[in-house]
Amino acid sequence: MKSAIEPLKNYILCHHCDLLSELPTVTDNHKAICPRCHTGLATEHRHMKKNTTIYSICALIMLILSCCFIFIDIRVMGIVNNLNILALADTLYQDKYLSLTVLFLLLVLVIPVLCLIFQIILCSRLPLSKFRQRDLLKWYGKLHDWNMPEIFMAGVLVSFVKLTSYGDVGLDQAFLPFCLFIVFYLKSYIIFSQRDIWNQVAKNYIGDTPLVSGKTGIDQNIRLCLCCHSILPANLARCPRCKTKGQLRERKKIQWTIALIFTSLLLYIPANMYGVMNTVFLGSLSSSTILDGVIYMWQEGDYPVALVIFAASVIIPVLKIIALSWLCYFALAAKNKTNVNCRKMNKLYKMVEFIGRWSMIDVFVVSVVSALIRNGEMMSVYPYIGAIFFASVVVVTMIASHKYDPRLIWDNVN
Ligand SMILES: [Zn+2]
Ligand SMILES: [Zn+2]
Repeated sequence: MKSAIEPLKNYILCHHCDLLSELPTVTDNHKAICPRCHTGLATEHRHMKKNTTIYSICALIMLILSCCFIFIDIRVMGIVNNLNILALADTLYQDKYLSLTVLFLLLVLVIPVLCLIFQIILCSRLPLSKFRQRDLLKWYGKLHDWNMPEIFMAGVLVSFVKLTSYGDVGLDQAFLPFCLFIVFYLKSYIIFSQRDIWNQVAKNYIGDTPLVSGKTGIDQNIRLCLCCHSILPANLARCPRCKTKGQLRERKKIQWTIALIFTSLLLYIPANMYGVMNTVFLGSLSSSTILDGVIYMWQEGDYPVALVIFAASVIIPVLKIIALSWLCYFALAAKNKTNVNCRKMNKLYKMVEFIGRWSMIDVFVVSVVSALIRNGEMMSVYPYIGAIFFASVVVVTMIASHKYDPRLIWDNVN
């Protein structure tokens, strides 16, 4: 006879609104959506393991190819400079911007490569112990939000337009492999199901009380493990599946979010006061802040680039700080919550999570432009300290939104 707990693997507790749903049979390429907050709960892809492995391997091959060739070249005053992805990191390192070098290497190369390798190992038939699988899944969960090759690509395209004001720019052999790397990496990421692999490690419900779909977890005295999405009795401090500690609600983490919002506000001041880029032209040095860059591009007639940089570097960080503050207030102190305004706040949180990382575009633009324009005293561009402060604002606000527990939005709804 089958265990009574066995069919419960089809239950899923929404990580945004805490509603328990019973998953119907999700057909190929379809997504199960939470009926309360409309957050995606699960997707189904036929041959998930095989397809994830194929796309991950293709992505890795394309990345290796794009590291072997030249990415962009530029001719300024008769001198040709070209850029290879690895040389970009080396240039930043030579300029003694170790923090920018590390950030670039981690976000664009190291973390994506690690995530792809983890995907391949977890989908392979290697005889991994449950402990190894668990450790790999935990690391994968921690790292995958920090993948940014597609944002780097957007930064390269913005730089391309910006560089045309310095000289003749051309895209080279590494451009196409890098585009294909991003397509394959995104495809593998969409197909890969952490939920399926976690369910292989252990079942997703530890408890003996029957579950009722359509009711919240807090009403049934159960909670979600935020690491492996296992359903646990509310009083169980450590998840038996992933060994992560947790609570019914992560109220203390909201204090972290508030502290990090203040930190990002403090960092945002020097990020705008100091230059992000220093330009040497015929021996004279000038420094330009984020806003100087936007105004310069606008005056030059490059309106789309000016708007992209203005949106990514000014509007998004400011809106993100305001939105996170509002979310903290709503979670902790709002009265008269209704389903409609909770859904609006949940949408705001999803937007903050999605859009926040795109602010990194400007940091990548500064890195690419400064690595390409190097003609000594004649015409050179160097990154400056403002870029580090700005990158810190993006990283700190990303951590702040990760610390936020969206289930607090939905508690005590009238
Ligand atoms: Zn939900
Ligand atoms: Zn867990």
